[in-house]
Amino acid sequence: MQIGVLALQGAFIEHEKTLRDLGAQAVEVRLPEHLNGLDALIIPGGESTTIGKLAVTFNLLEPLRAFVQAKPVWGTCAGMIFLAKDIGRDQPLIGVMDIQVNRNAFGRQVDSFETDLTVPELGADPFHAVFIRAPIVTGVSDGVQVLARLPEDNHKGGIVAVRQGHWLATAFHPELTPDNRFHRYFLREVAGLPVE
Ligand code: GLN
Repeated sequence: MQIGVLALQGAFIEHEKTLRDLGAQAVEVRLPEHLNGLDALIIPGGESTTIGKLAVTFNLLEPLRAFVQAKPVWGTCAGMIFLAKDIGRDQPLIGVMDIQVNRNAFGRQVDSFETDLTVPELGADPFHAVFIRAPIVTGVSDGVQVLARLPEDNHKGGIVAVRQGHWLATAFHPELTPDNRFHRYFLREVAGLPVE
């Protein structure tokens, strides 16, 4: 089981560690040839403008678009932005998921916070989610499944985790907490890989 982690910038090391804990091989992706043979890909958080510029510089944008059509991909935070079709501004994107995303949705004062989310797909226990200058999903098309919303008193219960077929996107950082249920969900349910 070889899972790529886009390693241009941002929080890729933490994803690699969680993947290894789950028995997967984590492969750092910086060049088009690094995508060969991967079963799935994670696009980490970081700065989506920087990730986009570096992807253009390394001629990765088209190979990533081709990979994403064929294989399971999960974007966290900046990775969610990078996967979205519509972010209301012009910057390099993979641009496949039918979601509208608002970058830096939580403003400067509260640009980082943690909260417990109810995520029915992960079971009854709440998922402790870390948001760092996070985006929020402001619109989804048919075919996009909403996996989690904020509590009602935070951005009116705004959408923070979605799935569209073999694509998963979360506005927060599951790689920064010890709870690996989102990684397991991605590998097992979204990617169909043999993980316990
Ligand atoms: N604010 C960042 C962006 O716009 C995302 C932050 C993150 O990935 N933690 O790309």
